[in-house]
Amino acid sequence: MADDRKDHNNWRADTRMIHGAGEMRSQYGETSEALYLTSSYVYPSPEEAAKRFTGDAEGYIYSRYGNPTVTMFEERMRLLEGAQAAMATSSGMAAVNAVFMSLLKAGDHVLASRALFGASLYLLNELLPRYGVETTLVDGGDLDAWQKGIRKNTKLVFLETPTNPTLELIDIKAVAKIAHSVDAKLVVDNVFATPVLQQPFLLGTDIVLYSATKHIDGQGRCLGGIVLGDKDYIEGDLMQYIRQTGPSLSPFNAWVMLKGLETLSIRVRQHCSNAKKVADFLKGHKAIERVIYPGHKEHPQHDLCEKQMGGDGGPLVAFELKGGQEAAFAFMNKLSIVKICNNLGDAKSLITHPVTTTHQRLSNKERADLRITPALVRLSVGLEDASDLMDDLGTALG
Ligand SMILES: *Cc1c(COP(=O)(O)O)cnc(C)c1O
Repeated sequence: MADDRKDHNNWRADTRMIHGAGEMRSQYGETSEALYLTSSYVYPSPEEAAKRFTGDAEGYIYSRYGNPTVTMFEERMRLLEGAQAAMATSSGMAAVNAVFMSLLKAGDHVLASRALFGASLYLLNELLPRYGVETTLVDGGDLDAWQKGIRKNTKLVFLETPTNPTLELIDIKAVAKIAHSVDAKLVVDNVFATPVLQQPFLLGTDIVLYSATKHIDGQGRCLGGIVLGDKDYIEGDLMQYIRQTGPSLSPFNAWVMLKGLETLSIRVRQHCSNAKKVADFLKGHKAIERVIYPGHKEHPQHDLCEKQMGGDGGPLVAFELKGGQEAAFAFMNKLSIVKICNNLGDAKSLITHPVTTTHQRLSNKERADLRITPALVRLSVGLEDASDLMDDLGTALG
């Protein structure tokens, strides 16, 4: 395979999502990236095999270490984010876990926002403490709390913005400054904003990660994840952790993600345009208690949304129904186009009731701190005709 990868610094994001790593064609000159469905590689000689193992020759060794299709996905993401290096993982949680395990050791401290993907909270609250890592969770919107929470031994600062499921925004630039005051690394899970709306590296983030399962695939097919950062870390501690413990991305899933990236930009823009229409429609509805949408002026961090996400409210809308959980369930049972599903970022509109699903492990106090009420539902707005979505929602609301 020809490997004359270049840094396409002059290309804009939409072009990179389509052509990034496009030079990695085989001798057959295929238009669409080749799928190298192989676990291992044949060496021309034992001398060459020995050289690859010592690192004196370039080339693939084993697909737990690397695979050409996976490399193309990593390279396309790397170019898109403008990172020095990237490494793919088998899922978003494999990415979060690999970052934690490769950066932390007993005696270290992690400071994180309280509003996180449920499984990330499990890692912070239950798993890391077992290995001697202390964790502190703060209200992400409260910069004083971040400042108070930071310690001399804080090695890692972690956040998501917008948060799941209450779509609160966190000021990445301000938190980066606090993290860097003690030389901690700021890690941002950028799933909810997507690479289209928010570029955390430009705001001082050290490591960006994604669940590619969501908008990058975009059609609910495959699990995948990716971690981006500086070369020292990605090709050092992170690569070592992934190679030795095995959360590697399958070549097939990498190929699906590559195809997903080619339409990511237009899809996300359409998701957002539909989400805005749906959020506006819900805001005026008499069965709705409260709509949470960062694109609305009433959203408490709308100014930050303008600064950090270009003013776009994003592809998700959360809302509370009048009448609590009973009303929420009755509404969900009457939906026909919108499907009940805890995934997000799909072409299909998906709705979930966090209290009884993604956040049911939390205590009542934890849910109260996160402002996740029984009346709350989270809607991942799909690519259907927005008028059909509003009809569906309107009918179900009665
Ligand atoms: C889905 C998700 C994850 C986990 O990703 P998987 O691919 O499901 O493992 C992590 N963070 C956020 C914000 C997510 O939405």
